[in-house]
Amino acid sequence: MTELKQTNERRRVLSGMRPTGKLHLGNYMGALYNWVNLQNEAIWARHNEAVYECYFFIADLHALTTNYEDLSMLQTDIHEVALDFLAAGLDPEKSVIFVQSDVKLHAELNVLLGNITSLGWLERVPSYKDQQEQLREKELATYGFLGYPLLQSADILIYQPHYVPVGLDQASHVELTREIARRFNQLYPGEFYMADGAAPWELQAVKDRAKKLSGKADKSYFTAHELIAAAPQTKLKSAYGTRKILPEPEVLLTPSPKLPGLDGRKMSKSYDNAIFLSESEPQIRAKLKAMVTDPARIRRDDPGNPEICPVFDLHKVFSPYETRAEVSEGCRTAGIGCIECKQRLADNVVEALAPIQERRRKYEADSKLVDEILDAGGKRAWKRADETMRQVSEVMGLRYRSVIC
Ligand code: SF4
Repeated sequence: MTELKQTNERRRVLSGMRPTGKLHLGNYMGALYNWVNLQNEAIWARHNEAVYECYFFIADLHALTTNYEDLSMLQTDIHEVALDFLAAGLDPEKSVIFVQSDVKLHAELNVLLGNITSLGWLERVPSYKDQQEQLREKELATYGFLGYPLLQSADILIYQPHYVPVGLDQASHVELTREIARRFNQLYPGEFYMADGAAPWELQAVKDRAKKLSGKADKSYFTAHELIAAAPQTKLKSAYGTRKILPEPEVLLTPSPKLPGLDGRKMSKSYDNAIFLSESEPQIRAKLKAMVTDPARIRRDDPGNPEICPVFDLHKVFSPYETRAEVSEGCRTAGIGCIECKQRLADNVVEALAPIQERRRKYEADSKLVDEILDAGGKRAWKRADETMRQVSEVMGLRYRSVIC
């Protein structure tokens, strides 16, 4: 099967985040920071043209899979995440920013793909068992929880993206999506397209004939089988290739630096060890002051090892080279105390968050604007998803009535 050549298109990128409420430094450095960079990446040589066509969404349907018992905070959490998306620098003029459930077609594709996804694939997803272990207090032996990686695949494939930006630890999550796309494309080969050497009028001739054979004068989309039937001449047939309706997306590896929380474990809201993007300067300073350090530094004159200290991991992300070098040297020689070291880190964290917090204040003061951005993003996303659903439905032989909202 020949791949569709998409060399002149902007590369489409898609990623999403669950609405967990206010976002923290770990969410920012692990995802948002990279998304903003992708959004802003431009080819200067081609009139500053954006490299990627970006779709970023708030995955509210995924919140249901683990929190279905209490959704009282869901809308508040969606709003907080939207504020942080915008505060971090996602720009509605450059990226499509939307809420997953505003594009109902995700759920529709999920149902269609559910029929070709084996249970074994879903049961083998590592996070299925891990999360059931970690969230023992919740009843997660549900159809929705088992199926969340499939919904994730539908979320991705419905935009036919080239890339899914993820950190190294999440790269395997995209593999299931690729597997599902492969099976779909095998079962439902898409429309023929012209390979090198075929003239445009030849394809038109085949389409006209396919229209006649189908008996439908207004037919505009043809399955591979219909076009094969309409192109009996061997010469003509060899001039076409088959397009994959659901191209397998590639992983776009993005940096995800180690970002420990205040207790040294991975920064996470559920561990209650996070520093939030919207926290005030006194809150940030107080939290960092209490952060765990190298346990060997009990007294001020004990030398320490910055490489095993979580505070230094944050220095690596937020402090310039000179500060890191001075702190590292000072820690090893007991030339600097932990209090001073943390103060210097706090200075840099506060400085890094200042523009983010300023933008947040602007959007906080105008929640109607945030709603409008999400509504507009939902409409743009729907339009793109509708294109895929039309192709998917037609190639599967289903009726499809496009309802652009
Ligand atoms: S001086 Fe800094 S890097 Fe060294 S142990 Fe204290 S907090 Fe950690």
